[in-house]
Amino acid sequence: MRRIAVFPGSFDPFTIGHEGIVKRALVLFDEIIIAVGANALKKNYYSLETRKKMIAATFRDEPRITVDHYEGLTVDYCRKKGAGYLLRGLRTAADFEFERAIAQINRTIMPDVETVFLLTVPEHTSVNSTIVRDIIRSGGDASRFVPAVININDYKGEDL
Ligand code: ADP
Repeated sequence: MRRIAVFPGSFDPFTIGHEGIVKRALVLFDEIIIAVGANALKKNYYSLETRKKMIAATFRDEPRITVDHYEGLTVDYCRKKGAGYLLRGLRTAADFEFERAIAQINRTIMPDVETVFLLTVPEHTSVNSTIVRDIIRSGGDASRFVPAVININDYKGEDL
């Protein structure tokens, strides 16, 4: 049975923190689907297509990673894809509390999808998309916070 994991998130933008979690998870799973949550009510800086492009560029040489998007419940998407695992990254105690509630509820809804957490490396603890986005929008250099293959200036955000 292939071990398929879904790594869901907003990825607005995809950072070295996200990249680190996915790379480490490759030893645990046969296939990882990075799934951008498309929430019509949530305003994002980067469009869905732009975020997917950034992620695809990051993992263009890794055939076991695919990029997709979904609407609705993450567990419903996992079922649709035949994924038995939901991958999430943890940085802080605040992340843990937030993730704990979601994982427990998800487990109630769909017991056969197991949430797997990877604790981030110390140097990525303070990397979060909101701060990276603020740097970019303010004209700063955010290149050290996004995957090395991404030239962030090639991707245009949208004014919110
Ligand atoms: P969401 O809106 O679903 O929280 P994010 O794009 O913010 O989407 O995060 C997706 C996942 O990546 C979450 O599990 C989050 O905890 C994790 N994550 C975000 N930043 C980091 C980081 N610097 N190190 C490790 N995990 C991270």
